[in-house]
Amino acid sequence: MGLRLYLSEPAQNRLNVLLTSPYLCAKVGLDKGGLPVPQYDIYVRCVECGAVHPMRIRIHLDNGPLEKQSIAETYPGATRPPQLQAIDGHKTLCLKTGRMFIQQNHDHIFLVPSYSSERIT
Ligand SMILES: [Zn+2]
Repeated sequence: MGLRLYLSEPAQNRLNVLLTSPYLCAKVGLDKGGLPVPQYDIYVRCVECGAVHPMRIRIHLDNGPLEKQSIAETYPGATRPPQLQAIDGHKTLCLKTGRMFIQQNHDHIFLVPSYSSERIT
């Protein structure tokens, strides 16, 4: 009789959760080279008109969110990576008023994965 591995019920449930987690799938895909390098476009809530405008900056983040998420949500109380600290005070053009503005509130600065719209080979 060979060695058998017994999983308790809760352990199996945990495994199922792990296997179906989209976050894990994405990570596994990345390790296998199945997905392009994760790049993010920065979008900013406009202080002039309230709409969300592109900052026209694209950055690489290894552990960024899978969907659009604010910087405050992504790095709650944690140190932001240097490429994100570098955009502090960066001016964004309001497409409606034609004026430049600076958004300081990290709740209103968003990371948007760009691999959904563009394949990088
Ligand atoms: Zn605007």
